[in-house]
Amino acid sequence: MNISYPTALFRGFMRKCPQCGGGRLFEGYLTPLKSCSVCALDFEPLKADDGPAYITMGLVCVFLVPFFFIMQARYEPPLGVALVISLPLTIIVILGLLPLVKGAFMAALWKSRG
Ligand SMILES: [Zn+2]
Repeated sequence: MNISYPTALFRGFMRKCPQCGGGRLFEGYLTPLKSCSVCALDFEPLKADDGPAYITMGLVCVFLVPFFFIMQARYEPPLGVALVISLPLTIIVILGLLPLVKGAFMAALWKSRG
């Protein structure tokens, strides 16, 4: 079974097993399962460590920070209003993106093993 790199990344991004796309990758929010419940792919060697966190922070910096600069330049909100908007939005985006990036990262690790 030869799975393309984009397919594996997409399956991981959807928090599914990169090999079969059927089994779940995580138990809960970020804890990887030991293996796939469908195809028995071993997830133990796919140690993501801090990689997904760095990628998530990078994505947030690239896409969210310019939004805040534009908001500040166009509307010039008071500091309190800017903080009330930007801090929760940043936290929500980071927490929403992190498991998706971790899944894609683990899929990339699996695919790079050959
Ligand atoms: Zn599987």
